[in-house]
Formats: sequence, structure tokens, C-alpha cells
Amino acid sequence: MGYVKTVIEQLHSKYPWEKEFLQAATEVLESLDVIVEKDPKYRDAKILERLVEPERTVVFRVPWTDDRGQIQVNMGMRIEFNSAIGPYKGGLRFHPAVTVSMLKFLGFEQVFKNALTTLPMGGGKGGSDFNPTGKSENEIMHFCQSFMTELYRHIGPATDIPAGDVGVGGREIGFLYGQYKRITNRFDAATLTGKGLSFGGSILRPEATGYGAVYFVEEMLKTKGDSIQGKTVGVSGFGNVSWGVCKKATELGAKVISLSGPDGCIIDPDGIGTEEKWAYMLEMRASGHDRVKDYADKFGVKFYPGARPWDIEPMDIAIPSAFQNELNEENARNLLKNDCKVIAEASNMGCTPEAIHLINGPIMYGPGKAVNAGGVAVSGLEMTQNTIRLSWRPEEVDEKLKWIMKSIHSQCLSAAEAANDPGNYAKGANIAGFLKVAEAMLAQGNV
Ligand code: GLU
Repeated sequence: MGYVKTVIEQLHSKYPWEKEFLQAATEVLESLDVIVEKDPKYRDAKILERLVEPERTVVFRVPWTDDRGQIQVNMGMRIEFNSAIGPYKGGLRFHPAVTVSMLKFLGFEQVFKNALTTLPMGGGKGGSDFNPTGKSENEIMHFCQSFMTELYRHIGPATDIPAGDVGVGGREIGFLYGQYKRITNRFDAATLTGKGLSFGGSILRPEATGYGAVYFVEEMLKTKGDSIQGKTVGVSGFGNVSWGVCKKATELGAKVISLSGPDGCIIDPDGIGTEEKWAYMLEMRASGHDRVKDYADKFGVKFYPGARPWDIEPMDIAIPSAFQNELNEENARNLLKNDCKVIAEASNMGCTPEAIHLINGPIMYGPGKAVNAGGVAVSGLEMTQNTIRLSWRPEEVDEKLKWIMKSIHSQCLSAAEAANDPGNYAKGANIAGFLKVAEAMLAQGNV
């Protein structure tokens, strides 16, 4: 049996319950076929077997006291997946659905994503099954402090640098950093990214994932002699990533017509394109209600309870920006029918495998690890600014972000071309990320 098939089978029999991780790993491994089957060095060094096993996983208890004085207990975790090309780097996700499998899938994806950024960052991910919805600021702070009281011993500027993800934004990073500094008595700014501007954060970090995604889409369209100008864009979610997409897509002349939340979605035919609307998105997120219906009430647009945005109105570009598997086969079929041109995942693993199977080819499909890498890339730039103790100007950061997104785009295209599958961004991203990490692993021996 081929090397890739053997490793996939081993993985499925070893961790049959880790659904999301198996989904992510299978997708990546299958696309590496062309590379690893023709050169025995990968099989001999057991590169794939090592790649799919995290270097270290820390699981811990997070006890905290709520506003009523009741003791609450959550699970905390950090998965340090791969440090071949740099210290572990990746976000923290606070969400009730967080499991080992979810963090393993995110950590695995992060290894490849970070390799694509051109920056020296390994991959990691962490989080908790803590549910921020409806919690007071005091409860959030106490939870973050307790979480960091264990996490601090596993992280540091040369070891592991966490950041935000779903449920963890600037406010949470502030609380986490404060506790880290208090325990260690060190102002090690490059231990966390996504910090506030007044204590070592980078300009444009909040916007970076969304801006980067739009830059990537612009590059994709450019290959067809087209551009984002005048296009209709559908977005899901209403957090940081969606907010950045709305701002940049509008600035480049597109119209973003949708947002979504756990309660349903909204369609705004005039476009989510004004400062007032963007500010309201931030307000909705900060309220902790996790509900998009508020937007419909405020701006008098239609709310669709329980619905996803993909099937309601035709869109030229679909940008899932909330969670994994949020665009399924049926959504993909409708997008195809409605003549959608680009589906680009700003969320990690935004599309189901069945959806990807249907769209990759007929529609230009950008995988999360390439499309959303602008966030972690600007985190890398934040680390550099912390190290050299200097803050770059907005234009400097934006220019570097643009350059990185262009580079990721061309790495994907060249790797896909070399694999005889031109235009297959998903395959190209996996191969380009793999080659960088595998080369470092081979050079460093069996560690
Ligand atoms: N959570 C984000 C991601 O999925 C950002 C990670 C970071 O900035 O380290 O890439």
C-alpha cells in the first residue's frame, strides 16, 4: 500500500473519535501523495507519522468563580504541534464545543499555514470549553487569569506564542497578558500576540485576517484578469474576521451583503459598508450576546432565523469567516447554480469535504490555511516589533501583509502547477507548507 494511504489508515484506527482532526489530516495527507510517493526519504524518516502526532499536549483544569460566587470548572489545553521551523504559534479558542479533536485539527492546520507565511513560526493551538456568551467582564477576567495561571509555564517568546481565535479577542489577550506578566515578573511582550497597542500590540493586527483574506481573493481574481471591484460578497460570522473583510472589501469597491451568527443570518442589500455599521459589528461582539439579529433590528434589514447566508441571495464571492464546516454540499450546490466565482475560507476548514469536492475546480476555491494566514502573519510581525522594540507605521505593516499574501498566493499556484494540478490552491497550499516543514524536520534528525 502507498505511504500516504498507510498513514491515513493508521490514523483512523488510532484516533477514530477525533472527527475534525481526521478530516483535516486526511485532506492534507491525500494531497501530499505526489510528493511523498516519489521520494523514499519521507517514508524512511517517518515524516508523515511524526507530522500527525503533536510534539506535546498539555491538558489542565481551569477553576474559577462566577459572579454569584459559584465555583466553575473548565478544561484548558495547549497543543504544541510542530516546532521544526520556529516556536509554536497559534491562537486560543474559547467555545463550548472545544475538544481535543478540534484543537488538534486547528493545530495541524496551523503548522502548514504558518509555514506559508514565509516567517519562522511553528504551529500550535489551545483553548477551553469555556463559553464566553452571556458572561460578565469580571467573569471573563477571572477565567483568563485562572487559564494563564497554568498556561504561563508552557509558553514564552522562544517556546510558544499564543494569540486569539474564536472567543478570544483583544480584551481576553489583555487579561491573559496581565496575568502572565504578574506571575513571571517579566515584560516579555512577544509571549502573546494580538495585544493592545499601548502594550506592544501591532497596528492592523485586529484587521489582518480579514484584510489578508481580501488581498488573497484579489490575487485569485487577478489570475483571471478580474478584480473584486463591483463584486457582491457574502460573509458569515460577525466577529473580527468578518469585520476586517467588510472593511477591506468595501474599500476595494465590493459590496458585502451578509453576516451570520448562531441565531441565523442577515442580508443587507445596501451593503455592510459604512463606519457606523462596522462600529456596530464591534458593539454586537462586545455585548457578549452572540446574536446577529440585533443588526437587523438596528438597520432595518431582513433577518433569517437559523439560516446560513450562502443560499439566500446570489453572490460573486463567498467568504466563510466564522467556524469550521459552515459551508456544506447543499450550500456549495446553490453557490454553483448562482454563478459564484470564488469561495475563500477566512475561517479554518470553513467548507465540508463534500462541498470542496464539488466546488474545487468549477469555482476558484481558497483554503483557510492560505486565505486566513494574514492574521498569524501580522502576529509574526508583532513578535518582530516586540523583539526590536520598535513600532512600524500602518503603511509599513500593510505593505508587509500585502507582500506576504501575494507570496502565499504564488507559493500555492507554483506548488499546484508542479504537482500537475494547476489552479488547485488547496493542494498547492498543502504541498508548499509541507515541503518547508519536512525539509527542516529532515535536517534536524529524528526528534
Ligand atoms: N487564530 C488565528 C489563526 O487561526 C491567529 C493565530 C495567531 O495569530 O497566532 O491563524
